[in-house]
Amino acid sequence: MSSKHAIPSYLTPPDIGAWGVYLEQIDRVTPYLGSLARWVETMKRPKRILIVDVPIERDDGTVAHFEGYRVQHNTSRGPGKGGVRFHQDVSLSEVMALSAWMTIKNAAVNVPYGGAKGGIRVDPKTLSRAELERMTRRYTSEINIIIGPNKDIPAPDVNTNEQIMAWMMDTYSMNQGSTASGVVTGKPISLGGSLGRHEATGRGVFVVGCEAAGKRGLEIKGARIAVQGFGNVGGVAARLFAAAGAKVVAVQDHAATVVRNSGLDIVALQAYVTQHGSVAGFPDAEQLDDAAQFWGLDCDILVPAALEQQINRDNAAQIKASIVLEGANGPTTPEADDILHDRGILLVPDVIANAGGVTVSYFEWVQDFSSFFWTEDEINSRLTRIMREAFAAVWALAEEKKVSLRTAAFIVGCTRVLQAREMRGLYP
Ligand code: GLU
Repeated sequence: MSSKHAIPSYLTPPDIGAWGVYLEQIDRVTPYLGSLARWVETMKRPKRILIVDVPIERDDGTVAHFEGYRVQHNTSRGPGKGGVRFHQDVSLSEVMALSAWMTIKNAAVNVPYGGAKGGIRVDPKTLSRAELERMTRRYTSEINIIIGPNKDIPAPDVNTNEQIMAWMMDTYSMNQGSTASGVVTGKPISLGGSLGRHEATGRGVFVVGCEAAGKRGLEIKGARIAVQGFGNVGGVAARLFAAAGAKVVAVQDHAATVVRNSGLDIVALQAYVTQHGSVAGFPDAEQLDDAAQFWGLDCDILVPAALEQQINRDNAAQIKASIVLEGANGPTTPEADDILHDRGILLVPDVIANAGGVTVSYFEWVQDFSSFFWTEDEINSRLTRIMREAFAAVWALAEEKKVSLRTAAFIVGCTRVLQAREMRGLYP
């Protein structure tokens, strides 16, 4: 039915989107859950969804409205936990899937959280700084009723950062009447943020990448790395790989793909991106005209660290890497999982590979509660240990059950969540 009104995106779904990918992943793990399969429907239904209207006054005096979301997928093991994304393609399906992946991830690395996620359907590049602040504060006020240090703790995700977290913490605190630093993680250090949090997701990707390379007998020194996404995840992971002697031969971001066979200068590339907003036009590199060619580049480790469903049936057969490290959430479709698996490519799934961010978020939350702050060395060594142990446990289970690392990670995650679910029992 056509309408003269603007129809919210949650009433006009083009397809089931990322949530459909997640459901397929749950179907694949269900045969391995034994008697806990009785509870699996829990995983297929978010506990709570809040959709909010976020109106702001633009700098030119007009009024703009944005769709905001906070989805609490599961809280069986603890408060909801997961980031907030600002992106023009944010949809209900996407936030549902992202919240569910947080549930699995938090359980897979055994931090005492459920899973949640939020987002606003907006291209933040179209807002001034003052507009961005007003939008962030209004969104926080709207979701205020369901978040809190013991209820649900947001954090940064795509296009959100320390400054956004500071505004969220301040808005929540103003509404409460006292400073509540534990309501969000990924805050600036001066407001109770944690050392190492900014790099944590990329560092976790790197640590797990080294473990996976070890299993494949691949030396990191000299390994060829291609990275999609050059933000907080891809940028940091690329820098750490380069510092360990790997060659980052290609980087793709929202604007361009830059390639250099002998390895890009990542420190210079990061400085360039800070100045120019993207990798486009970076000197000392070749630029690919056709973004799709990125997937067929010759490399050993491919790191999708941008958005969902990037590796799909159209490009999975072209991938030359022997290891795919999922820095992003949900970058590979189930069809592509099968293609990569059949081709003998080792895929380290998002719920393990990018769990470093939420792991250090957990450290931040613990530090805020105890008002006692740890050194960066302590944080990085605890992070490294948790990532290695989670990888080793998932690896061993994958071998034992003869399943992919994704299915093994889902077995670990779903088992922990559903055991908690079963022990708590249904209320009433
Ligand atoms: N947004 C990050 C993720 O997808 C971190 C979430 C958090 O720290 O709560 O894992």
